[in-house]
Amino acid sequence: MTSPVWHPFTQHGLDEPIPVVASAKGTILTTKDGRRIIDAISSWWVTTHGHAHPRITAAIAEQATQLDQIIFAGWTHEPAEQLARELVAMMGLPHVFYSDSGSTAVEVAVKMALGFWANQGQPRHRILVLDHGYHGDTIGAMSVGARGVFNQQYQPLLFDVGTLPCPSGDGQPTLDALDHACRHDAPAALLVEPLVLGAGGMHFYAPAILAEMRRICDRHGVPMIADEVMTGWGRTGTLLACEQAGIVPDLLCLSKGITGGSLPLAVTMASSAMFEAHRSPDRARMFFHSSSYTANPIACAAAVANLAVWRDEPVRDRIADLARRQGERLARIADRVHNPRQLGTITAFEVGAGEGYMSDLAPRLLAHFRDRDVLLRPLGDTVYVMPPYCITDAELDRVYAVIEEVLG
Ligand SMILES: *Cc1c(COP(=O)(O)O)cnc(C)c1O
Repeated sequence: MTSPVWHPFTQHGLDEPIPVVASAKGTILTTKDGRRIIDAISSWWVTTHGHAHPRITAAIAEQATQLDQIIFAGWTHEPAEQLARELVAMMGLPHVFYSDSGSTAVEVAVKMALGFWANQGQPRHRILVLDHGYHGDTIGAMSVGARGVFNQQYQPLLFDVGTLPCPSGDGQPTLDALDHACRHDAPAALLVEPLVLGAGGMHFYAPAILAEMRRICDRHGVPMIADEVMTGWGRTGTLLACEQAGIVPDLLCLSKGITGGSLPLAVTMASSAMFEAHRSPDRARMFFHSSSYTANPIACAAAVANLAVWRDEPVRDRIADLARRQGERLARIADRVHNPRQLGTITAFEVGAGEGYMSDLAPRLLAHFRDRDVLLRPLGDTVYVMPPYCITDAELDRVYAVIEEVLG
């Protein structure tokens, strides 16, 4: 019997097997037919502490019996209020706008930056972005992301942006291009993935470059948007990647790990300048954005529980320990791969000759890993390991063992 489900990023014409996952705990996914699969990519970068963390699942169950959903325009509830207070204390920005995915968090940030300028009577519309960036798959999020095979069909609809070279080395070409654009193009904002360009191929760059981008933006009064949808919640070794550069952006996008990877939720955190530019007795200057499930109470309760896990459990120690264990294993294969690299809990390397996302290698690798009960999903010939922080030594060894089978 064929399924009516149309899957994301899946070519149904290839008839590849689609495993049915029945349950998950920690790092292990169990399929309907009883296979135990190691989740080495945190279910596409969302699962931080491990699947079904007891504190988070309990909070979800409890909240579901109290208040399931409520309109958020002009109404509020305690989980959203508590989460916002705690996020402000943790992240260093004073305002929290809720939405429900990384893509919408980015769309909201871009709209806020445009509103910031429009409400001051100096409309600006040009967004500066980094080459190889990824910010989601809605039309706006695609517009600020790298152009490629993923969005070729929609290109005529994507809005024009200023693209800076992807930072590498000392980042000088990127910094020069940023300075030039700030002087000549009147940009509305710079949008970056801090330290890691994730879906664009796991490109890492130095905190000093991020810090210098912030300084250039400050010098020219250009707001900086940090998309920490992937890098947030400890992936790069610190709670936020921005911490490593000692910077706070004007707008900060968080999603994925905000609920520990249990329910969809996102926030766009904003500086007081962004908020004040929209605050006025004039209703025409309010921020015009909402989605039906904005600040869903059950998702907010899951996020509050996630913050409690961060507060009460040795999460930072686990992250440091995973970074060390990842580094050891990467070192063992480093001479058999191209460009081995690590940032915090993430390792990445190329196994082919840079054939790009549509290379034949990717589906073959995917099948190899799937057949060996390891969930890894290479980006073209770039293999990366980004597991939940609770992964055991034995599980991590198994992940690298199946990777070693494809090397050489
Ligand atoms: C995943 C991701 C997004 C999009 O998030 P969705 O929840 O999939 O919409 C945006 N930005 C970055 C950096 C991401 O990694």
